[in-house]
Amino acid sequence: MDTTIPADSAGATPSPKMPVSNSDGPTSNIPADQAGASTAGKTRRKGVPEGLWLKCDGCGASLYRKEVQQQLNVCPKCNHHFYVSAWERIAQVLDEGTFEPMNEQLLPTDPLEFKDRRSYAERLVNEQKRTGLTDAVLTGTGMIRARRVAFAVTDSAFIMGSMGSVVGERLTRLIERATEQNLALIIISASGGGARMHEGILSLMQMAKVSAALARYHEAGGLFISVLTNPTMGGVAASFASLGDLIFAEPKALIGFAGPRTVKATIGIELPEGFQTSEFLLEHGYIDRIVHRRSLKTEIASVIDYCGK
Ligand SMILES: [Zn+2]
Repeated sequence: MDTTIPADSAGATPSPKMPVSNSDGPTSNIPADQAGASTAGKTRRKGVPEGLWLKCDGCGASLYRKEVQQQLNVCPKCNHHFYVSAWERIAQVLDEGTFEPMNEQLLPTDPLEFKDRRSYAERLVNEQKRTGLTDAVLTGTGMIRARRVAFAVTDSAFIMGSMGSVVGERLTRLIERATEQNLALIIISASGGGARMHEGILSLMQMAKVSAALARYHEAGGLFISVLTNPTMGGVAASFASLGDLIFAEPKALIGFAGPRTVKATIGIELPEGFQTSEFLLEHGYIDRIVHRRSLKTEIASVIDYCGK
C-alpha cells in the first residue's frame, strides 16, 4: 500500500487543548488499515487490478484478499485486524437482516461555512459518494443471537469517523430509545477524528450531549457495551467511547486522545512501548477486555445474558 499514514497521525490534534479532527482530505485521511481489506475497494495503483492480493500492515505478508475477507478482515497469519466498514460490521455482529436503521433522515449541514483545503459542504458530498454513508455513524436496533439491542457503529472512512452534530444527535436518540425500551446498548467506535472540527463548538457540545444521555440511560439501569476499534481517538474517546459499563477493544487498536506524536511533543519525554494500544490500556485498567473480532458477537451476547438484559 503506498498511502500509508503513520498510525499516530490518525488522532493527532493540532493543539493538545482542542479535541478536533485533523483530516486533510478524503484521499489522505484514511488510516493505514483502511485501504487494506475494504470490500468497497479502490484501485490503489494504475494498472494493478484491485482485489486479488493485499499486504498485511501487521506482518507484511502478502495475503489473498478473499481469504482475509472470509476471516472477517483479520490477517490469518498474525491476527492483524484490518478496517471494516460500518455496514460490514453490522453484518458481522448483528443477526442477518435484523438491523433497522434509525434517523437516517438526519443529514449534516455546514453551519459555519467552514473551509480548509476545500469547503466542508463539498467535502460532505464527496465523503457521502465515496463511502455510501450519509454521515460517520449508523444507528438502529437489531438482534445479537436473538437478543434485541440498540446498536451504533462509526466508520473511520467518513471524515475519520469524527463526531459532528449528526453523529451526536443520532447517538443521543439511539440512547434515548434504548432507555425507553430497556435495550442493551452496543456502540462500536472507529473514530480517528474525534470531534469534527468543521462544525467547531457544535461538534464539541455533542460530547456533553451524548454523555448526558448515557448518564440517564445508566440511571435507568441500562447496560452499555462500548467496543473500541482502530482508531478511537479525540472527542470520541473522551466521551461516549470511554463511558461503557464494559469496554471491549479489538487487538492492537490505537486508542487515546491526542496522538502519540502530539503527546510526546507536549510532554517532552519518551513514551512507553505500546503506548495507546489496546494491550497497554488493558494492562493499565482503562479497558476491560481485548476481544478478537471473531468472538465479538458471542462475547456481547454472553455479557447481555450475564447482566440479565
Ligand atoms: Zn499479518
